[in-house]
Amino acid sequence: MARDPSDDVEKGRWGRRDIVRAVTAVPAVAIASCARATPSHDEATRPSRLSPGADAPPRVRQVRQIVDAQPTIEGAGVRLRRSLGSRALPLLDPFLMLDEFHSDNPDDYLAGFPSHPHRGFETVTYMIHGAMEHRDSLGNHGRLGPGSTQWMTAGHGIIHSEMPKQERGLMWGFQLWVNLPRARKMVKPRYQDLAPELIPELAIDDAEVRLVAGTAGNQTGPVSGIVTAPQMLDVKIAPRGAFRLSLPSTHNAFVYVFEGTAEIGPARTKVGPAQLATLGEGDLFSARSETGARMLCLAAQPIGEPVARYGPFVMNTEAELQQAFDDYRTGRLVSEDG
Ligand code: FE
Repeated sequence: MARDPSDDVEKGRWGRRDIVRAVTAVPAVAIASCARATPSHDEATRPSRLSPGADAPPRVRQVRQIVDAQPTIEGAGVRLRRSLGSRALPLLDPFLMLDEFHSDNPDDYLAGFPSHPHRGFETVTYMIHGAMEHRDSLGNHGRLGPGSTQWMTAGHGIIHSEMPKQERGLMWGFQLWVNLPRARKMVKPRYQDLAPELIPELAIDDAEVRLVAGTAGNQTGPVSGIVTAPQMLDVKIAPRGAFRLSLPSTHNAFVYVFEGTAEIGPARTKVGPAQLATLGEGDLFSARSETGARMLCLAAQPIGEPVARYGPFVMNTEAELQQAFDDYRTGRLVSEDG
């Protein structure tokens, strides 16, 4: 999702100076650098069937930063809440953005996201309620209903629209942006459209888990072939319940709570609705909840390259960003020979 840049392009608002500002406004690379989490005795020594090794106790990830999602207007006037990709947290390599759209007021979502381009990264749409219709300039067409996911690798370039397929009722879902490394930014676009029944539903500890990507409970999610080896889970913890999950220590990770309040990590840091918590180093994620809570749990391998981003394009350099605008203007963004 992104506003249509064509108006700005035509009016010259996305000139060289804007792009330079965009490149310099975002930290070049956000890499985990905080002190290693120190698990409490209770959390660190308890045996776990998910622990990565028999000898060493798991290192449980602490909350490093909490970000409140901010009201934002995107597309043709969709009201949503942005956590990752906001001023408070511009980037958690390789994650670029997380938006939650959640409203039963059609005025908040009906305008949708008309035709707009993307290049250089991946968009992930995850629906809780309602329906979104997707169309692109190559003729791909899909309808995302409740519980479904679309993992779109924009690569070299797509021009698409994402429009609500309902006129009233609750529309609730998420869009996540995941970066691509330099070597994969110009690959052929690829879609993974996953109907709800393709996403495994697991019972792990005191939680109901939908496994979109990665592994959990000896199962593997349906998303495949993603270079950053992501884990993506929708985790619903029962009241007075607990949940533990092995996460690769190589990955940057965060959780976004969208129902109830969860206590995260050995310090039991409280994270409430519409709050994102980035996680420190470790190989185990732990959460519990008194009230019951539901959250997205994300982890992926950081890329460690410079990020140049503006609007719907995410590249490595200012020159590549300018090239993306030029290609969009001249029709080469989506052409086969690029
Ligand atoms: Fe989009």
